[in-house]
Amino acid sequence: MAAVAEERDYTRYVLPMVGTDNEFILSNGNVLPFAARPWGMNHWTPQTAVNCEPWQYVYDATHITGLKQTHQPSPWGGDYAMFSLMPTVGPMKFREEERKSWFSHKAEESKPHCYRVYLADYDITAEMTPSSRGCLMRFTYPQSDAANVVIDAFDEDSYVQVIPEERKVIGYTTQYYHSGKKAPDNFRNYFVIVFDTPFEEFAVWRGNGFDRKAREAQGGRTGVVVRFKTRRGQQVQARIASSFISYEQAEISLKREIGEKSFETLCEEGRRAWNDCLSRFRVKDDRLDDLDNVRMFYTALYRMFLYPREFFEYDAAGQMIHYSPFTGEVCPGRMHTDNGYWDTFRAARPFFDLFFPDWHAGYMESVANTFRESGWLPEWVSPGHIDAMIGSNSASVIASAYFAGVPGMDMETLWEGMYKMAYHAHPKLSSVGRAGAEAYDRLGYVPNDIGVKESAARTLEYAYDDYCVLKVAEALGKSPEIIDTFRKRALNYRNLFHRQFNLMAGKDSSGRFRPDFNPLAWGGDFTEGNSWHYTWSVFHDPAGLADLMGGDRAFIRMLDSVFEQPPVFDVSNYGGQVIHEVREMQIMNFGQYAHGNQPIQHMIYLYDWTSEPWKTQYHVRDVLARLYRPTPDGYCGDEDNGQTSAWYVFSALGIYPVNPVSGEYAIGSPLFREVEITLPDGKILTISAPENDDRNRYVDRVRVNGKACTVNYLTREQLRQGGTIEFRMAAEPNTKRGVDKASRPYSFSEEYGAAAGSEQAPAASF
Ligand code: CA
Repeated sequence: MAAVAEERDYTRYVLPMVGTDNEFILSNGNVLPFAARPWGMNHWTPQTAVNCEPWQYVYDATHITGLKQTHQPSPWGGDYAMFSLMPTVGPMKFREEERKSWFSHKAEESKPHCYRVYLADYDITAEMTPSSRGCLMRFTYPQSDAANVVIDAFDEDSYVQVIPEERKVIGYTTQYYHSGKKAPDNFRNYFVIVFDTPFEEFAVWRGNGFDRKAREAQGGRTGVVVRFKTRRGQQVQARIASSFISYEQAEISLKREIGEKSFETLCEEGRRAWNDCLSRFRVKDDRLDDLDNVRMFYTALYRMFLYPREFFEYDAAGQMIHYSPFTGEVCPGRMHTDNGYWDTFRAARPFFDLFFPDWHAGYMESVANTFRESGWLPEWVSPGHIDAMIGSNSASVIASAYFAGVPGMDMETLWEGMYKMAYHAHPKLSSVGRAGAEAYDRLGYVPNDIGVKESAARTLEYAYDDYCVLKVAEALGKSPEIIDTFRKRALNYRNLFHRQFNLMAGKDSSGRFRPDFNPLAWGGDFTEGNSWHYTWSVFHDPAGLADLMGGDRAFIRMLDSVFEQPPVFDVSNYGGQVIHEVREMQIMNFGQYAHGNQPIQHMIYLYDWTSEPWKTQYHVRDVLARLYRPTPDGYCGDEDNGQTSAWYVFSALGIYPVNPVSGEYAIGSPLFREVEITLPDGKILTISAPENDDRNRYVDRVRVNGKACTVNYLTREQLRQGGTIEFRMAAEPNTKRGVDKASRPYSFSEEYGAAAGSEQAPAASF
């Protein structure tokens, strides 16, 4: 029986300013206060930066410099295809330093679907409310003969044209800033801006000055200022749409998405679109002291629904088409972009295949299209492949979706991609395919002396990814040779186990560990972390890892040590530079537990594979309470395209997908007394914990639809069947519950036997 969700407005709990207080040396989220639609093609942000600085809006700024269309996935990844509008009054100005205006957060409103700010220097209220491919802006002016809108196309190679007869400005931007990535030569973001008020005057900006005679400008940084004559309180509206394909396509989207809708209509459409997503999760916990948690929960959900952005458009016939960032051609079907799997394979992507499989089906079409158009599966796309982090976790994303029953997956193409990625390194990008693939295949690990950076991190993730390939190969009935090969490769994590330290460490081609191995050293053989963070990257075989460490007690001791050690670090691999992730670990008073970065984010849940599962419950609640706040400095490091938010959302529900392919969700400690979830087929799942509060953080008992659940995990089937999962919470740990071996979630070496890979003995260690 599908209940109709009550019409409660959950967007009011979303605070887009959470995580916007950042600087280069310290990330409190490194996010922007986007106004957008869920998965919208464009995001819109107020801009405080000048000259396209990556930190485009920072909370402690005093001036607004524009309202900007952006596609930035992270300040570290740069931006592409952006342009900006800024209303001013008085003499025509162009550059940010000249056109900027004082503002106050008290005269600013930021919601998922709209944004409003008072620009004090001009006595203008500027508002924007976007659709996926367009935006409606509204500027309320004072009385003036010189009420302006600056349109800035940025860039070294942009174009603008004024068509005053149609009250229109069109143009394109070609900006594409990313390390190691190159756009096809024809990459353009075409924009069309139609005003509702005739221009009194206009001037185009070319290079370093205004040209009041020309109607267009091309090359270098270009822009336009259009001028109106206004009465006090007069509103001027700008209807905006853009396309990666053509002006015509931008016009189609403008008509389709914005049309003649009023600002209020479009804003309400946006609010509903957000509420449709957010209201699938209904926190029923109305304790007053819980408001911070409720705000953080819905803010985290909002962050998750922003990515991956749509990169497809609808043509005149309503068919999905997209500009291929790989070939430069216009292709049929879907494309999504701006996602790094190194971050999001862990929990953000599995969230969507569990709770939104129908949406995820469309996304999987985009993954297959990426392989068809580029010959490589996506690992970090924005919008083409970029050289960031390491591969090849696309295997996990595909396998997780496949086993979650995401409909209509093109497994022929996706399998071809998974198999190819397992054996091939991209010729130029070390993050695509598998860098060191040949050596990995030969030695069972990526050695640290063949010019492939972060070799230990790669080995550990490749071994897990091999498990993902294995499970799909089995399900698709691939040959015994293939299955056998990947079954062995899934145990390759063992090849880097350093017995002397009980930790993972990099090795050279002859099988030697570094004589000066320092578990506290960040970088080097690891990716943005140290051995203490990466040793746990055996998502598919925690029992196998525990065996290596000497069994249950030793495993627990190593897990405990993460929290017990001081947050000391060695940054010699970074030339002595304390990268922001290191600083974020150091300042949180959480020992070596570096929740501000992704590699360790599943580690707390590994106590579920031990005789002391209550330690998962203890630490989960500690992280929920201490490392997330609904404040501008509220994240404890880069949010990263929904991943750090996904940790919060899953954990607040009381579960986490340590190994999303297994279909088991490790049990933690739910945050709220009750959350009601509408499942994909309309069934309702209630997660209830009536005694829950800050003190009662331990799980005393779990019942699934009235039946006792004595294990440390819930299955996908249990979650999907709906009904009630009831947690009885207590102030003291239940040291009898979930402590025996049979209670532990999936481990590879238990399914296949510890000897599954014994034909390829671990390489000798010294
Ligand atoms: Ca990160």
